[in-house]
Amino acid sequence: MTLISQISFVLVAAFFGFFLARRIKNIRANIQLGRSENRNDNPDKRLKNMFLVAFGQKKMFKRLIPALLHLLIYVGFLVINLEVLEFILDGLLGTHRLFAPFLGGFYTFCLNLFEFMALGVVISCVVFLARRNLLKLSRFWDAEMTSWPRLDGNLILIIEIVLMAAIFTMNSTDQILQERGAGYTTTGTFIISAQLMPLFESLSTQALVMVERFAWWIHIIGILAFALYVTYSKHLHIFMAFPNTYFANLEAPGKMVNMPEVTKEVNIMMGLQAEEGSAEPPPTRFGAKDVQDLTWYNIMNAYACTECGRCTSECPAHLTGKKLSPRKIMMDVRDRVEEIGQTGEQNGKSLLGDYISKEEIFACTSCNACVEACPVNIDPLNIILQLRRYTAMEESSSPADWNNMFSNIETNFAPWKFPAADRFNWSKKS
Ligand code: SF4
Ligand code: SF4
Repeated sequence: MTLISQISFVLVAAFFGFFLARRIKNIRANIQLGRSENRNDNPDKRLKNMFLVAFGQKKMFKRLIPALLHLLIYVGFLVINLEVLEFILDGLLGTHRLFAPFLGGFYTFCLNLFEFMALGVVISCVVFLARRNLLKLSRFWDAEMTSWPRLDGNLILIIEIVLMAAIFTMNSTDQILQERGAGYTTTGTFIISAQLMPLFESLSTQALVMVERFAWWIHIIGILAFALYVTYSKHLHIFMAFPNTYFANLEAPGKMVNMPEVTKEVNIMMGLQAEEGSAEPPPTRFGAKDVQDLTWYNIMNAYACTECGRCTSECPAHLTGKKLSPRKIMMDVRDRVEEIGQTGEQNGKSLLGDYISKEEIFACTSCNACVEACPVNIDPLNIILQLRRYTAMEESSSPADWNNMFSNIETNFAPWKFPAADRFNWSKKS
């Protein structure tokens, strides 16, 4: 590698590094727009959750074939990226295949392993593209899957295929250059890329070096660009799945959490708790109208969502034709928090009303099926409940039937209209 290549590499890495660091800072600030909530209890249980659900992909295996293909992409991508370490060091130091002389036969073994993984990634990506675009799986074509989410899903698969093709091209031309004694480090045979050698053998040595270098640059620029791109894409889940599962809810599935400010008021009213002096300031709002009323974990959930639609495909409200998709709830939270993060202002809009309608949140049966189905433990129900609490407690705009039920509970301690004292009349002999 020439000095110009080294300088170019440093400049390219610095360019992507700068924008990546800025984007990470933005996402962090957006998540911190949410209310504080302590989720640092039970670190052992949380770590176990993270290893099982994010690292071990436990919940993915409810659907075996996509799970295996996803695992192939996931492991393949992780393992292949070990090679990126060599790419970076080669780029910085001006070397070529820095590790090969030190590792000898083990290097050949590792590179062959990477190539088999790369082939697995290509096959999985092709199958996933076919599922999305030829088989047109319904959950990838729901109303919220507008042009950008659909394009995003396809783009990432195509980028991965291009990155893997660059590896095969580089290794294939490299092997021909080794055979021609062009000063390339001896590495042994790479089984898969060796099959592509006939495609390049007619090229001159100079042209081969250009193709090999071009593939090298495409791969490393592709990796850096990929790292930046995922922060704007649903593929951010590659990273966010880990903190998201670590901080996930540890309570019993579907358990609704009381509002401490309401519990306190009721306790005082019933004489179970003494009224304190000034203590905490009164709550500014009951429930949630906008993203700042949600917790930081609700917002993190939105950044961890893979838009896979498993939640929506299990949602009974959605399946019976109601206007509710838990996936859309998560996408709306992310869009809204991004909007506030980018413009820095509220612009008179709010999550409830401008993004999510009351019709959607009133359609939810609180069944928890979406949470159960989510492969990364996202909790759309928690967000829906907070939005519903706002409509009930701040606006009194719940559906009329619900309002009747609320007042029955308040006066009769039961959802029905009968006074509590009459409730067991049916058991008395006439
Ligand atoms: S909790 Fe609500 S959003 Fe989730 S699956 Fe059940 S009905 Fe759908
Ligand atoms: S909330 Fe979970 S299940 Fe639903 S689309 Fe997002 S990642 Fe998939």
